Amino acid sequence: MLHIEENVSLASLNTFGIEVKAKYFVSIYNESDLLELLKLPLWKSQPVLILGGGSNILFTRDFDGIVVQSCIKGLEIQEENESEVWLRAGAGESWHGLVMHCVGKGWGGIENLSLIPGTAGAAPIQNIGAYGVELKDVLESVDGVHLEQGTHLHLSAEECQFGYRESIFKHQLQKIFFISSITLRLTKKNHILHTEYGAIHDVLERRNIRTPGIRDVSDAVISIRRSKLPDPAELGNAGSFFKNPTVSDEVLERLKRAHPAIPYYPFDNQQFKIAAGWLIEQCGWKGKRIGSVGVHVNQSLVLVNYGRANGKEILQLANSIQRDVEQKFGITLKMEVNIF
Ligand code: FAD
Ligand code: NAP
Repeated sequence: MLHIEENVSLASLNTFGIEVKAKYFVSIYNESDLLELLKLPLWKSQPVLILGGGSNILFTRDFDGIVVQSCIKGLEIQEENESEVWLRAGAGESWHGLVMHCVGKGWGGIENLSLIPGTAGAAPIQNIGAYGVELKDVLESVDGVHLEQGTHLHLSAEECQFGYRESIFKHQLQKIFFISSITLRLTKKNHILHTEYGAIHDVLERRNIRTPGIRDVSDAVISIRRSKLPDPAELGNAGSFFKNPTVSDEVLERLKRAHPAIPYYPFDNQQFKIAAGWLIEQCGWKGKRIGSVGVHVNQSLVLVNYGRANGKEILQLANSIQRDVEQKFGITLKMEVNIF
């Protein structure tokens, strides 16, 4: 049964904690609810915003349309054999809850993605990634509803066109596709562990763990994240505000000549990934506060709301950072957070 509310505050539904209102607000618990919604005259006359956990969104104004909150629950094994399991998760499941479920069952593949806030359904949007693992490494398929055609669609991983913090859902299917579930392919044995990121390696060494299992990796990631990243429940933020830029080898050589300490990592097609946080830090932004907004003291990629900021102030800060990085390094930082 659909329950459409009017003039709803979104302050507790976005991790920046920005106080804005939605003209209309509805929670979706199954695909039939959504199909019912698509038939209403109200639907055809209003802009639409799909909301998961609000952890990758910056609201800069009230939303003058319908906010559709993704609440479809359920974890279900689709198939399994001796060595693998195919697990379907409803879009409204907590991502970290899903990771903990899998770690608890001894299923490997997403342990490096522990403690990422938000919902399972939003994970394919930017192909979430951390510590050398991306969703695309384990995603089998995505199911959902095409909001213009009112039809159910099933997309294979290949059809999702995943890239670095990219997917078809940020391009051709942006704003017109509601993800209702995702299916992951996970290992039950012979897990492939990713411990190459320095921080994970250091924690395992400090804990004297020489042959780690998936729970050890998950625990390491959780402890690193807790020590480094602000908890949105205490300090409003949406994780990394910018994406790490990628550059050609010629550009990298130019940068290395001027800035020998610049951190970089090999990427696809003779491209190199540059750590955006370092670029921002070199421009003197780390830990800086301007009124109610600022750059986090431990992590320059994270912009924070000290309590009373509005979205426009955060966007202004982001634009100032972009301008400084462009001037100093000739690199344009692209925003990872979705701006509304
Ligand atoms: P929302 O913020 O609600 O939405 C994000 C986008 O997805 C919006 O455009 C929205 O319209 C769309 N969307 C949401 N649900 C659906 C759906 N069901 N169907 C269609 N479209 C939908 N991200 C990483 O990749 N790696 C990290 O390590 C990481 N760490 C973070 C740490 C912190 C402290 C925070 C606050 C954020 C971090 N993030 C990270 C960013 C964020 O958590 C992820 O991008 C997450 O997947 C967003 O999920 P959400 O449910 O909150 O999405
Ligand atoms: P970090 O470990 O200090 O590293 C800084 C940057 O260098 C990262 O962005 C990472 O790229 C890159 N990097 C480090 N070691 C690498 C390696 N061995 N191979 C390839 N690239 C390497 O980063 P951090 O800020 O503490 O974050 C740790 C992880 O959590 C990162 O993967 C980061 O993406 C993820 N994270 C993401 C968000 C978000 O909102 N998107 C927020 C917090 C943390 P990658 O980012 O490509 O991994």
